Amino acid sequence: ASGRWDPILGAGLRDTDPATLFDKIISGAIPAAIVKQDDKMMAFKDINPAGPAHVLIIPKDRNGLTRLGKASVEHKEILGHLMVTAAEISNDKSLGFGDGARVVVNDGPDGGQEVMHLHVHVIGGRAMQWPPG
Ligand code: AMP
Repeated sequence: ASGRWDPILGAGLRDTDPATLFDKIISGAIPAAIVKQDDKMMAFKDINPAGPAHVLIIPKDRNGLTRLGKASVEHKEILGHLMVTAAEISNDKSLGFGDGARVVVNDGPDGGQEVMHLHVHVIGGRAMQWPPG
């Protein structure tokens, strides 16, 4: 889709996979603490934060990106946009971030992904451990 974000296409209907609760957050049917958005993406606070600061960034038009493992060259622009947004959010002290963050995409069952609408986690406000669990 080009131009303005289309709520039908954006509601997970451009691909054949089921819509998720993130589509309801995009449409406003489920409230969320939105911290940043534009026509391509939405960033909102995670409801079950893994640190003092935890923001999720999602593409508004899922366009087949149920998970990172589905990405192809056609998704380069949106994936780059999500990562630049992750940088902006991790630098926002007003959201509780310190110096840096853990930026994570859980991909599929082995990655611990629960919501099948690609999302970037930006977690911070504390020192992270490595390796993750
Ligand atoms: P994942 O396990 O990578 O699929 O992450 C899904 C994330 O969505 C989890 O961190 C949940 O806490 C978060 N989540 C689930 N429901 C909501 C909601 N209604 N608003 C904000 N975040 C949510």
